Amino acid sequence: ATKMKEQIIESFSNDLKALIENIIIKEKKIFVTLKAKTPKEAKELQGYKTECEEKIAKFKVFNEVNVTFTLIRKKFSKVIAISSCKGGVGKSTLSVNLSMSLKKKGLKVGLLDADIYGPSIPKLLGLSEKPEVNADKKILPLHFNGLEAISIGLLINQDKPLIWRGPMLQSAIMQLVNDVAWSNLDYLVIDMPPGTGDTHLTLMQKLEINHVVVVTTPQDISLADTRKGINMFKKFNIPISGVVENMSYFICNNCDEKHYMYGKGGGEKLSEEFNIKLLGKIPFDTLISDSSDRGNPNLIHENEDLSSIYDNIIDNLIN
Ligand code: ADP
Repeated sequence: ATKMKEQIIESFSNDLKALIENIIIKEKKIFVTLKAKTPKEAKELQGYKTECEEKIAKFKVFNEVNVTFTLIRKKFSKVIAISSCKGGVGKSTLSVNLSMSLKKKGLKVGLLDADIYGPSIPKLLGLSEKPEVNADKKILPLHFNGLEAISIGLLINQDKPLIWRGPMLQSAIMQLVNDVAWSNLDYLVIDMPPGTGDTHLTLMQKLEINHVVVVTTPQDISLADTRKGINMFKKFNIPISGVVENMSYFICNNCDEKHYMYGKGGGEKLSEEFNIKLLGKIPFDTLISDSSDRGNPNLIHENEDLSSIYDNIIDNLIN
C-alpha cells in the first residue's frame, strides 16, 4: 500500500501534491483528503478533486475512490472519540458520563452517537423524540440538561432495521458530521462503533480528532484486536490519549471491599503494551446500570464517589 501510495502521489501535478492532507488505502478502497480552509475554497479547488479522481482511476486498482476536502469549520474546538474493540464493554455509558463531567466544568458539549450496531445514546439520556430540521435543512440536536446529542439511531426507523451497507451507511454518517446544527461546542464526544471499519475511516477523514479513549474490561484483553484498532488511529496520526478500564471491581455493601470479579490488570496490561496512559478505572455499580435503564445520568453524578471517578478521567485526559 505504501508503494502504491507513492506511485499515486508521483502521478499528481505539483499543485495537487501540495493539497494532500491524507491518503489511506484499505483493500480496494482509497480515501484522499485535500486541504481547504472554507467551503468557498473547496469549491474553487474542485478541479483538483477531479484531477485526483482521474489520476487514481488510471491505476485501475480501486473499486471505491473517495476524495474529500477537510473543511476547517470550527464548530467544535476539540473532538474526543470513545472507542472499543468489541461491544458491551460500556463504551456508550462512558461517552455519556464523560460528557456529563465536561459539562459540569461549564463547557459546552455535544455527544454524537455513531455506533451503527447499537445506537444507545438516546436511551441513556431518556430521549425519544425525533430531531427537527431547521430552515437551513440542518438537523437540530436534542438536549439533555444543556448537553446536546444526536444519534444515528434517531435518524433511522428503529422498527424497520435497515441493512447498513456501504454507501448508505457512509451517507448517514456524513449527515451526522455535516448536517447537525450544533452550538459552538467546546467538546464533541463521539461514541464510535466497536472495532475498525469504514465508519471509522469516514469519521477520521472528516473530523480532526484530538483524543481517542479506548475502553476495555479487565478480562477483555484481546491484544490482537486492540493492536488493529490502535494501528488504525496511528495511520491517521490520531493520538490515543488513554485507556479506561470499565467494570473493574465491585464494592459489596457487606464488607466494603473491592472484589475483582473479572480478574485484574486488563487496563494496566493494555497501557503497558501500547504505552498509553491508564486514565482511570470504573467499578461495576448497579447505580450505573440503573441510571442507564432509567435514562438519567444525573443519578450517577449526584453520587460523589462515582462522579469523581468520571471527573478524574476527564482531568487526566484534558489537562
Ligand atoms: P457498549 O456501548 O460498549 O456496547 P454500554 O455502554 O451499552 O456498552 O453498556 C453495556 C451494558 O453494561 C449496559 O447495560 C450498561 O448499563 C452496563 N454497564 C456499563 N458500565 C457499567 C458499570 N460500570 N457498572 C454497571 N453496569 C455497567
